[in-house]
Amino acid sequence: MAATRIAGDVLAARIKADLAPAIAAIRAKAGRAPCLASVLVGDDPGSIVYCRSQAKACEGVGITYDLVQFPADTPATALAAKLDALGADPAVDGILLQMPLPRSINARDMAERIPAAKDVEGITSANLGKLFFYEGAALIPCTAAAAYELIKFAGCTIKGAECVVVGHSPIVGKPVACLITNDLGTCTICHIETRDLKAHTTRAEILVVAAGKAGLVTGDHIRPGATVIDVGINRVPCLDEKGQPLLDEKGRKKMKTVGDVDFASAEAVAGAITPVPGGVGPVTVAMLLRNTVRAAETHIA
Ligand code: NAD
Repeated sequence: MAATRIAGDVLAARIKADLAPAIAAIRAKAGRAPCLASVLVGDDPGSIVYCRSQAKACEGVGITYDLVQFPADTPATALAAKLDALGADPAVDGILLQMPLPRSINARDMAERIPAAKDVEGITSANLGKLFFYEGAALIPCTAAAAYELIKFAGCTIKGAECVVVGHSPIVGKPVACLITNDLGTCTICHIETRDLKAHTTRAEILVVAAGKAGLVTGDHIRPGATVIDVGINRVPCLDEKGQPLLDEKGRKKMKTVGDVDFASAEAVAGAITPVPGGVGPVTVAMLLRNTVRAAETHIA
């Protein structure tokens, strides 16, 4: 039997609707909407697309979205000064620094300038530390929080479950593993140096894949009935029946977005699986809105 598709867009809509009373309360108390400042340096195409979806999502729930743009050759000192100003601005509740930054700027140094209480992506050492220490009030990295919410939305019990996370990045893999461990799941983290990936993934009742490699996980990596959360976002060419790339009217390769999991083979084995697109992506944006509202609640309390 084909796996149940875990509808991220349905969960995202529910999370957004649940934010309405809190946003109304902030408006009543502060006399303004919650405000998210998003800082973009340069013109990375992925970041520009993400900014557009942030703006739309904020507008949809009544959060003010302030996009602060800098050219790619902006000196680190100017960016630092702006981040400090936003950090001190009483009208700004949340700050998001779009990554990647130009190579000339140290991304970690810049991220750490964001005050923890306004760090709506949960990327500062302070917020990651709170997650590590299991302090419920932390602002948790949005994608990790999304994967966790999707596991719960799929009806899984994390406590005691065999869980495997593929990917150990500080903003996705590690915080997901931390959330799972905080809930007393038995969690294995796999990464690029893991010797036998399949030996681990086939044990998993809950499998989260965040590697950025299209097709890394196929049906034979999956334990029958497992819940699979596919975090990956990869752009790959569309192929015809003979495996040749399809071209658009201008002769360019047609591209599509896929995850890290080969959906067709995985769907035949898993119990439940997130599609890409329509799985983790919309819930990540909903988590950003939720973090912004939480930051505003703290800020105006
Ligand atoms: P990253 O490059 O920082 O980390 C990738 C991780 O995967 C590393 O731990 C690496 O060791 C591991 N890895 C790579 N190849 C592997 C292999 N062959 N076998 C086992 N492990 C392997 O990436 P990231 O920032 O954590 O993002 C991961 C993926 O999630 C990317 O596709 C990214 O686009 C996507 N992403 C999605 C969202 C969303 O909202 N859906 C948000 C952020 C990131």
